[in-house]
Amino acid sequence: MAVKSPRAEALTAWFRQNARDLPWRGTPDPYRVWVSEIMLQQTRVEAVRDKYRAFMAKFPTLRALADADEPAVLAAWSGLGYYRRARMLHAAARVVASRHDGVFPRDVAALEELPGIGRYTAGAIASIAFNQPAPIVDGNIERVFARWHGIDEDIRSPAARRRVWELARQWVEDGARDGLAPRDLNQSLMELGALVCTPRGPRCGECPVQTLCRAARDGRAEELPRRAPRAPRRDLRLWFVGLVDSNGKVLLVRRRLARSDSPLPCGLWELPHLPWPADQPPPLAAMRKLLGLRFDLHPDLFTTRHSIMDMDIALTLQTGTLVGSARFAPGWSRRCTARQAMSVAQSSATTKLLRHVFASRRE
Ligand code: SF4
Repeated sequence: MAVKSPRAEALTAWFRQNARDLPWRGTPDPYRVWVSEIMLQQTRVEAVRDKYRAFMAKFPTLRALADADEPAVLAAWSGLGYYRRARMLHAAARVVASRHDGVFPRDVAALEELPGIGRYTAGAIASIAFNQPAPIVDGNIERVFARWHGIDEDIRSPAARRRVWELARQWVEDGARDGLAPRDLNQSLMELGALVCTPRGPRCGECPVQTLCRAARDGRAEELPRRAPRAPRRDLRLWFVGLVDSNGKVLLVRRRLARSDSPLPCGLWELPHLPWPADQPPPLAAMRKLLGLRFDLHPDLFTTRHSIMDMDIALTLQTGTLVGSARFAPGWSRRCTARQAMSVAQSSATTKLLRHVFASRRE
């Protein structure tokens, strides 16, 4: 009988005792594992909890998601940002429903062929849902391995990435050969990174692998992983108009195509906006031309900041009044009450601005 690796046994035992009670845990349903993993990309656990519950209440099965129309899926995704994830999720649900008869493929290669599923997500579904010894590397695992194995290179470099994936492969394959569950092996590393081996202030004294960890031994846990400096962030200024008609309804528009002068995602509802170059007045004439509607603007400006990828954006809003009932691009514009406006699919930047539009009307 094989002798189990003491480090893997200790860490998986620690995981079973300390795992957080999260709404997507405790089920091997690949649909639920998949949705949670997509939501958790670039988004904190706390922000995902309630959104995940609401999304599952609306689309409890893969078939329900596949049968939904895109605006409903985007609306359920509102507030999570990075809407491309929701579109890919929807597209992949349709592929699984049509090509795989609604049954998730079990192996990593077939999973990676689905829209929006990369190496990490395929490994997570294969290991957590199907208990297969497939490696995964997320930010937590990367940090744990960089410290545990004393990886000094820039952790984003191809060489460091290859090394971390190789360590992850050995970890789950060796552990599975020793009779440990791949789902516990992978999740124990993720949980260690989330709860103990944290980016700042790792609690090495409570860590089940402390005696094996190079960074802890050398007293440089906080120095790792190393990251080469990124390119400087870019600044962008956008000018928005929040136009309300005589019935108290705000004008929202939707773009079919991405615009090179706006980083906001297309396909969502938003307030009309244009880039606003520094040291120039707001581009009023261009806005009138864009909308082809009559409107008056109030003099006050409201500015808030928003970050998307490598951009820091100053969003400046000017509220105003729509004159007449002419319509702009039917189907791609609508006039909404406050309640309707807050419930359509929109980015978090739009939500911030809409709150101000309706708050300023109450003042
Ligand atoms: Fe991280 Fe410290 Fe544990 Fe090493 S001993 S893995 S640095 S928490």
